[in-house]
Amino acid sequence: MGVNGYGTIGKRVADAVAAQPDMEVAGVAKTQPNFEAHTAVDLGYPMYAAIPERAPLFAEAGIETAGAVDELVADADVMVDCTPSGIGAENKTMYASYDTPATFQGGEDATVAETSFNARANYDDARGADTVRVVSCNTTGLSRLVAPLSEAYGVETVRATLVRRGGDPTQDSRGPINDILPDPISIPSHHGPDVQTIFPDLSIETMGLKVPATLMHVHALNVTLESDVTAAHVRQLLENQSRVYVIPEGFGLDGAGTLKDFALDAGRPRGDIWENCVWGESIAVEGRDLYLFEAIHQESDVIPENVDAIRAITDAADAAESIERTNRTLGVGLAGDPTGFDSAEPVEADD
Ligand code: NAD
Repeated sequence: MGVNGYGTIGKRVADAVAAQPDMEVAGVAKTQPNFEAHTAVDLGYPMYAAIPERAPLFAEAGIETAGAVDELVADADVMVDCTPSGIGAENKTMYASYDTPATFQGGEDATVAETSFNARANYDDARGADTVRVVSCNTTGLSRLVAPLSEAYGVETVRATLVRRGGDPTQDSRGPINDILPDPISIPSHHGPDVQTIFPDLSIETMGLKVPATLMHVHALNVTLESDVTAAHVRQLLENQSRVYVIPEGFGLDGAGTLKDFALDAGRPRGDIWENCVWGESIAVEGRDLYLFEAIHQESDVIPENVDAIRAITDAADAAESIERTNRTLGVGLAGDPTGFDSAEPVEADD
């Protein structure tokens, strides 16, 4: 498996793949020999020059390259494109010219691939495909909730307000610095249609904001269900989702800051939180209307999905096997989660 683009997502994908017993990192391709390139070499990943003319820069920095990116593409069974939005689409012809199946990230337009992907929702759509797009952090977070809710109760409409971090911790040129921006100002935001790439028939309206934060996104959700439920039943349903962490009361996890601290204390690599973090106390039901708050760690929730997308595209396992293996090898399921990580199956709705 080769990674093209070794930034926020690419370096996490490479480490997650390296942790899989059935996968191997053939190499990573980078544009410049920065600190991440040195770390990749320390981790033993063969380094390829994403832009061949820049290979001498790597040599000058003391980094030996194994070749140019097209050699990696020729060698790998699957390429995981983790380049910035829009570059993936440009790389598509290179992957196709070597008959190498490729996965792309959520910054690409949905048309880049045969199918958009979320392991919990539509794994089978990607089995044996040549190209797959792992949806964005926000869409992944929403899909992980919509899938069990629609299976258990039926979903009439989703209304979600997405309070989005302005940038990742390393993105010092992004903002806002001291503002609260409706973003996009037009309603609905593009997020709803993106969720519909996973659930084509879903009724969903989304509104987005951007705030001066780098830690996580926070979603405020109102879901009108097709059947009457209780908050306790929804909570049990969500606690049984392996990639949803229902934050217990009394834990003092009152925001993104404490969640990140918790992940670091738990020894998570880079303080990553792969799970949706739903505040248990926020789960409220009024008739058929469900309300809740969740936090999404934008840098890492898509990482287990990327691993599963590789198994799907190579048809190496079914959804349940892949999700279980990915969860077990990465350690998905935060300490304190009463359900652990091995109950990927949703609980059925009672009458
Ligand atoms: P990033 O900027 O952190 O990393 C991208 C890397 O690709 C950088 O190292 C950059 O130097 C490199 N690159 C640039 N041009 C390249 C080229 N032609 N060939 C190879 N490498 C090249 O970006 P990111 O945050 O990792 O985002 C990557 C993709 O993942 C985007 O589609 C983004 O929308 C998506 N995504 C990002 C997040 C997030 O929060 N960061 C979450 C989910 C999905």
